[in-house]
Amino acid sequence: MSKFKAYKKRLKEAARDPKISVALKRAIESYRKNVEEALKRFPHTLKLAEEVRAIKEQSIPRMEELVGQACEAIQKNKGKAFLARTPAEALEIIDGIVGTGKLIVKGKSLTGEEIDLREHLEGRGNEVYETDLGEYIIQLLGIKPMHLTAPSIHVPKEDVAHLLSRVTGKKVPPDIAIEVATVRGILRDKFIRADIGMSGANVVAADTGTLFQIENEGNIRLSTSAPPVYIALVGMEKVVPTIEDAFKVAEVTWRFAGYTVPSYVNLVSGPSKTGDIEKVITYGAHGPKEMYVIFLDAGRSRLAQDTVFREALFCLRCGGCFYECPLFAVTAGHFGDKYFGGIGAIWTAFVTGDLADAAPLTYSCLSCGRCKVRCPVEIDAPQMCLELRKRIAEGS
Ligand code: SF4
Ligand code: SF4
Repeated sequence: MSKFKAYKKRLKEAARDPKISVALKRAIESYRKNVEEALKRFPHTLKLAEEVRAIKEQSIPRMEELVGQACEAIQKNKGKAFLARTPAEALEIIDGIVGTGKLIVKGKSLTGEEIDLREHLEGRGNEVYETDLGEYIIQLLGIKPMHLTAPSIHVPKEDVAHLLSRVTGKKVPPDIAIEVATVRGILRDKFIRADIGMSGANVVAADTGTLFQIENEGNIRLSTSAPPVYIALVGMEKVVPTIEDAFKVAEVTWRFAGYTVPSYVNLVSGPSKTGDIEKVITYGAHGPKEMYVIFLDAGRSRLAQDTVFREALFCLRCGGCFYECPLFAVTAGHFGDKYFGGIGAIWTAFVTGDLADAAPLTYSCLSCGRCKVRCPVEIDAPQMCLELRKRIAEGS
């Protein structure tokens, strides 16, 4: 079966799956309510979103320079920073740090998904645990995530109970509070024993080399601070000039992700240190002694040079557009592969390096424009999808 036919079959099956439509209906209702409340309580967010668009407009054409600055800042902070041009290069750098036979705790990372990081590390004999609750469920089920910020959006509590009963060997009831406590119990021990912690970042400040991570569960906080070694994998497009810019990007991101305020915003600039004994700076106090940051290109610099598609790099990964997309509402993450929806079509085309890989996505976009209206940085994904169809047809 051709790729296109297989994709169409998956879409149709997903559209007929009542679990997906019920779960998405609930998620969409609650997302809209949450964003409305968040914007009502913090109305300055809309103005801030305009500023963020301007920050991205200035940052993306300077991406190479800003990543260079961020690397320098991280090195000054006694971390180590790298720029990987391809997924293979990134994996090679990570392999050099990790080795084999390690216990790894990992925060949710779309860039990690992009390069199949977990599968790669497991293939080299490491034990890897996704620590985001939704991502952990996805890992146990052996399926792909269905949303950027809510990967197990389509899995009901009954299925989670069944899964956790299998993992623990004890009967876990379909009670969400008990399910959450069960996962906490399983993962607590992994955080403490882990050799390495890994995560991505929502935004990075070039001037200070600070990584921002927005979260609610506290798993990123633990993954980035409990193990002795910390590795971050970050897309090049995440770097903005200053820490002040980064705060603005972070606030707009979490608000359009549906949070009035997230439980945690982690700022990580370097390894853990102390000067408390005789003022001698010593690394590895309570947090990691070693910190590594790998910036990933993988098509991003080519995208940054393309004036038609460049604005896809403005994406904050807030996930807001998916809750407005009529196709996503009935098919969830089946409208995409690693990247979803209209914006995902552009990302797929550039990160895979083959425009044709994005054909199924771009041809299934309905051009309704609803995603652009929701997008905090007004990314015109529908128009870009039409342009992409043109390029695919022209074979350029
Ligand atoms: S334009 Fe395409 S991607 Fe955007 S909301 Fe409509 S169908 Fe979804
Ligand atoms: S395209 Fe816009 S709404 Fe969608 S995830 Fe990116 S920033 Fe958010």
